[in-house]
Amino acid sequence: MRAPSRLLATAAAVLAAAACGSTGAAGDDGAGGDLRVTVSSYPLQYVAERVTAGRAEVDNLVPPGADSHALELSAQQVGRLGEADLVVHLSGLQPAVDEALEAQPPAHLVDAAALADLHGDPHFWLDPTRMARLAEQVAGAASEVDPEGEQQYAANAERLARELTELDREYATALAPCADATLVTAHEAFGYLAQRYHLQQVGINGIDPHVEPSPARLRDVVDTVRGRDVRTVFFEATTSAAVAETLAQDTGVRTSVLHPVERVTREQDYPGLMRENLTALTEGLNCRS
Ligand SMILES: [Zn+2]
Repeated sequence: MRAPSRLLATAAAVLAAAACGSTGAAGDDGAGGDLRVTVSSYPLQYVAERVTAGRAEVDNLVPPGADSHALELSAQQVGRLGEADLVVHLSGLQPAVDEALEAQPPAHLVDAAALADLHGDPHFWLDPTRMARLAEQVAGAASEVDPEGEQQYAANAERLARELTELDREYATALAPCADATLVTAHEAFGYLAQRYHLQQVGINGIDPHVEPSPARLRDVVDTVRGRDVRTVFFEATTSAAVAETLAQDTGVRTSVLHPVERVTREQDYPGLMRENLTALTEGLNCRS
């Protein structure tokens, strides 16, 4: 009994395409991607581009290399949010985006916070299995807007999920000897990663990297580094290096870079940075060899 409804759906899609075609003729952009997807951070861009490849234009409100925590929106960007066919965002990360979406709700919205079972900490993408869940959700939402692309979206999401599962296996295998090791980081962004791979995260600056640690907090971290035989203090190359470096010097441990995959340049990508992080973790954590 599925054939008639599928036929109707196809007919509706053809009619919709014809309607789009007639309006598109005036300002034809010619590109294969007619779907306009707006995202509010790099990890969401990565998933949206992979899932909608070939059928959509993905517009990230955060320019390459910029800080997603500190995002402010121009009036033009608020307009772009309102005009998007699909918005993929993460509520609770950027107040400016939350406010704009509340004032002018888009027709189709995926909130990564809702599906990733988040508690306060927005950095879900550092656990690859949570990224795979987002891929499925984006494929579903894109198919609602563009039913003709459903199979393509589903296949793209499935391929991405397989790659993320492989990445998860690499992490689990490499970090198995490091179970219960203490992960001291400047930016407390690695809570979901730590949860997934059985590490104990101790953040210096907190979940928002722009909040400086108090002297009492610093004393606690120093005690942790000394008491738990920590060998490395991790920080991100772009921010909060000074406090982490001072702490490492005072406690006589080394520093290493751990990338929160938020400020991402055009030359970097999610799987590459995640694998660099894995190397830094296996070299820097106190693991049983
Ligand atoms: Zn962050």
